[in-house]
Amino acid sequence: MSETIFTKIINREIPADIIYEDDLCLAFSDINPQAPIHFLVIPKRPIATLNDISEVDRELVGHLFLAAKKIAEEKGFADEGYRTVMNCNESAGQTVFHIHLHVLAGKPLGWPPYTDKLKV
Ligand code: AMP
Repeated sequence: MSETIFTKIINREIPADIIYEDDLCLAFSDINPQAPIHFLVIPKRPIATLNDISEVDRELVGHLFLAAKKIAEEKGFADEGYRTVMNCNESAGQTVFHIHLHVLAGKPLGWPPYTDKLKV
């Protein structure tokens, strides 16, 4: 897959507000926050979309959630609550093709999350 801006963040080629890192993943603040707390948890190994994961990624994808939970606990908003989102492809609004878990918190979050009228 082609390199994305997230690979550049992993490689420290562009700056980011990195809040967590371990062997498998990195977490950093979203540059365009949609809630008072909004950060992204990304695997260091790039995978373009959720459609591209396979059995070998089982632990890695689970690891992203464990990291999100750990950060939520460390930052003190785990009990209050938070939302995790992974957008997949165009209709979901994915813009960076390196999978990432959005973690949003710090205010009551509306549901459903979209603002356009749902046509079924
Ligand atoms: P998505 O639309 O699900 O692909 O989410 C991509 C997210 O990456 C958006 O929320 C962007 O604001 C965020 N983003 C893009 N470039 C950067 C960057 N350089 N640093 C931090 N967040 C970024």
